[in-house]
Amino acid sequence: MDEEGFKAALEEQKTRSRKDAQKEVGDWEVLRDEADVAFLGYDQLELRDAQVVKYRTVVVKGQPQYHIVLNRTPFYPEGGGQVGDTGILVFAGEKIRVLDTKKENNLVIHVVEKLPHFIQDPTVHAEVDASKRHLTESNHSATHLLHAALRKVLGTHVQQKGSYLDDKFLRFDFAHFQKMTDDELAQVEHIVNEKIRQNIALEEARNLPIEEAQQSGAMMLFGEKYGETVRMITFDPGYSRELCGGCHVSQTGKIGYFKITGESAVAAGVRRLEAVTAAGAEMYVNTLEQEMTAIRSTLKAKDLAKAVSDLQDENKRLMKELERMVQEQANGLRGSLRDQLTTVNGISLVAAVLPINDANAIKTLAFQLERELPPSVIAFGSSSPEGKSLLTIKISDALVKEKGLNAGTMVRELAQNSSKVAVGPALFATAGGADASQLDAAVAAVQEYL
Ligand SMILES: [Zn+2]
Repeated sequence: MDEEGFKAALEEQKTRSRKDAQKEVGDWEVLRDEADVAFLGYDQLELRDAQVVKYRTVVVKGQPQYHIVLNRTPFYPEGGGQVGDTGILVFAGEKIRVLDTKKENNLVIHVVEKLPHFIQDPTVHAEVDASKRHLTESNHSATHLLHAALRKVLGTHVQQKGSYLDDKFLRFDFAHFQKMTDDELAQVEHIVNEKIRQNIALEEARNLPIEEAQQSGAMMLFGEKYGETVRMITFDPGYSRELCGGCHVSQTGKIGYFKITGESAVAAGVRRLEAVTAAGAEMYVNTLEQEMTAIRSTLKAKDLAKAVSDLQDENKRLMKELERMVQEQANGLRGSLRDQLTTVNGISLVAAVLPINDANAIKTLAFQLERELPPSVIAFGSSSPEGKSLLTIKISDALVKEKGLNAGTMVRELAQNSSKVAVGPALFATAGGADASQLDAAVAAVQEYL
């Protein structure tokens, strides 16, 4: 293990003991003395004559969890990124669901839904959920093929930084500094799919001395604790060779199809790929196809890219047209607003609730009108079809200087009930509110303010 891996392992151990502190762990009820618990899950998914070594109840956040340890088990305990197996344990005809399988030191712990009535029964029938396991194996073997493909396409600086895989998808984190390009992703996907189609047989070496594994060029993985002997997984000696304790397909062809579904950054210099294989890939492709069919039928078009681009063009044209019409309407309003000019306490004022609601058009209107009038205060109220109000105030420079008026202060005081007040400078300010019903009153209040 490299230094980084060692630190990560240490950190993991610390986190684990912190978590343990929040748990109430019951004592083991020991039925049999078994120093070593055998994991047989590489070769079989079912075992008819396992025996209970011990069991206990653990209370996590007030919820009881039941743990059973067998002397031999086909259940894979969570590790190396691979999820723990689920399945059933049968005690004297009573079926108990295994919700998860975890490792604790050398023990394989079956987390079960409840403890069986006859836990003392000498034989337990243990059966792993085979379809879930096979899909998980597909995803695990695919991460090995992916790792090798990334090193081929991006370079040997690519190193695994973490992984997660279950029966539905796989996630692979690795050292690399840039976002992968579409072309790189396509190349990687293509290599992995080619390796799948070559139907390469799994070569598995168990209990290999670590030195031998190193000499044969096996990749050592981040965060893994390696013993004196290791398990080496090879798919084509010249392509992928990793030390790994996880479960794999016997032939790469079983993976079926590999599809990358996401690329993102997780930390500085660490990228993350998400992908699906086998049934997960089938489902992914089907979902994509259904989406495309739905879009095609909505757009009533065969060429989707062209249809969407046409829609965008049309939308742009319509927006421009709308803008022009709003501006025209605003220009029409200017004449009648000029006629509404009054004088309050010696200050020229135009105060009106406008029939338009485009904030930009209103602003333009206020500035244009102000230029056409003697120094004045212009106050506009408007409301959107959704019932939101907007108060706009424009004050001529001369009034700001001579009378000490301030548009920002004014909107703030007039729109006290508004939810959003833009504190503007002295010459121009707006306030947006959720309630348009107070608009007339607010505009009328401008007179009193002056
Ligand atoms: Zn592995």
